[in-house]
Amino acid sequence: MRKKYFNWSIVGHSHILEALSAAILNNRLSHAYLFWGPSGLGKMTTALQLAQILQCQSKDKKPCLKCAACQQIQNRLHPDTQIIEDKESINIEEIRMLQHNLSLNPYNSPYKIAILDNASAMTFEAQNAFLKTLEEPPGKTIIILINKEDAGLLPTIISRCQIIGFSLVAKEQIKEFLKSKFSQLKDQQLEELARLAGGRPGLALRMVDNSELVEQRKEIVKFFSCLPENSYLERFNWLSQSSKDKKATELLLEFLLTWFRDLLLLKLGLIDLITNITHLSLLKKEASLYKIPEIKKIINKILKTQESLKYNANLKLLLESLFLFI
Ligand SMILES: [Zn+2]
Repeated sequence: MRKKYFNWSIVGHSHILEALSAAILNNRLSHAYLFWGPSGLGKMTTALQLAQILQCQSKDKKPCLKCAACQQIQNRLHPDTQIIEDKESINIEEIRMLQHNLSLNPYNSPYKIAILDNASAMTFEAQNAFLKTLEEPPGKTIIILINKEDAGLLPTIISRCQIIGFSLVAKEQIKEFLKSKFSQLKDQQLEELARLAGGRPGLALRMVDNSELVEQRKEIVKFFSCLPENSYLERFNWLSQSSKDKKATELLLEFLLTWFRDLLLLKLGLIDLITNITHLSLLKKEASLYKIPEIKKIINKILKTQESLKYNANLKLLLESLFLFI
């Protein structure tokens, strides 16, 4: 268990941590990695911890999380660890600056590290410019590209990176993690959060940490509890408040999906598999209002809406057509 040589604090992904640990210990790290997989799996957390392990100044088990380097990386202030994140678009000027920074000698650390979240946000010109760095990385450079999928990146970029695919984390592991972090939560709440997270520890964390999300979910449940009786006008009014932006809409659709899947599972007598276990009585009431083929149609419509959301910016129109259907 080489993983044990380091203080990784990541939920799941043990084979990835093993491989990275072995690469560090054997001095066989790749110059460039592409971490890919759906959001909320821990790709950025893994990239940051890898950077901390490499730059940590402690002589003990790394990362110590206490030394200046570990803390600077956590706070995005480390002079030799450049992090580009939260960007809808990454232009060529930003890539040129990053390249300039990588070309300088490390200020006071063993490595020059660059982490680019949402790498496919690089424009075509930016990706082309970045290729040069990937082909001839200066000195002790480690580049970590992070992306939800391999789409949107030039094949020449992908082929120069070691690809590490992140997959969904087992529900039990997410539950254990939540339990260790939030001792105030009851077992049923932990179970529901772990189920709602759908294999993504980051989503589970966001749901616990973000009271807005919890409120949004409560609103959705409230809305659903009287959906068949609500007039179209009431539905649209509620919709315009709930679909402020793309993120809110994505979340809304995900909750909708778990809700109708639960109704279907209840109809099929598979109570053990439902997600929203804290709302069982409401679900039972709701289930009596729909027939199985109706629920299946709605689920298909939600899935189609999720797909269209990727390409269509008109959120309101999309949701309105969905709700007319429900
Ligand atoms: Zn440290």
